[in-house]
Amino acid sequence: MAKQRGLLIILSGPSGVGKGTVRAAVFDDENCDYVYSISATTRKSRPGEQDGVDYHFMSRQEFEALIDQEALLEYAEYVGNYYGTPLASIERHLEEGRDVFLEIEVQGARKVREKMPEGIFIFLAPPSFKELETRLTDRGTDSDDVIRERMLKAKKEVAMMEAYDYVVVNDEVPVAVRKINAIIDCEHLKADRVVDRLLSDIADYFVEEGEDK
Ligand code: 5GP
Repeated sequence: MAKQRGLLIILSGPSGVGKGTVRAAVFDDENCDYVYSISATTRKSRPGEQDGVDYHFMSRQEFEALIDQEALLEYAEYVGNYYGTPLASIERHLEEGRDVFLEIEVQGARKVREKMPEGIFIFLAPPSFKELETRLTDRGTDSDDVIRERMLKAKKEVAMMEAYDYVVVNDEVPVAVRKINAIIDCEHLKADRVVDRLLSDIADYFVEEGEDK
């Protein structure tokens, strides 16, 4: 039977909800067969991050050249830096039947929804707003004012949850990972993704048997 086209999976959610941690845990699994879409960014690399693995790190000028060339599926400015999804290779991987996984913030996810509505949009939600505040505070990277700003932003972002296909509460990382994998498995089994291939397999069988009536 012909191979099924790959799925475009978009994991998004508010800042501090743990998207990066959950995404890393999804890819740490030895059975994971998704292609991670490596984003371009103008932010400086953090210790331990590798160019071409974690991100494609670049200057604003280089990033703006990608925008001009329409080489990005989407991009957004986030806390003073650009982040964007390179288009190159996404279509090829999907054609080859590979699932492509994006982990992006909510403005970007909204733009992907406009361009590729067939994507599977998963919203990662905090177990509670109190917990989200604790996570942002524990990071130790932001002042109280910035945390307050992020909490207000998160309130607006959570209101966009209804535009997603699925909501996964990030209570415990392994549980969230299991749920994300279950969503992707079920999406592959949807009848409209399977029926055409099955019917064409049946048609091929009868052609070979000389009974194509
Ligand atoms: P960080 O600087 O912590 O790695 O990422 C900051 C935010 O940018 C995170 O919410 C992350 O999900 C988001 N992000 C990473 N890559 C992209 C991208 O290609 N496009 C968009 N729109 N957001 C991204």
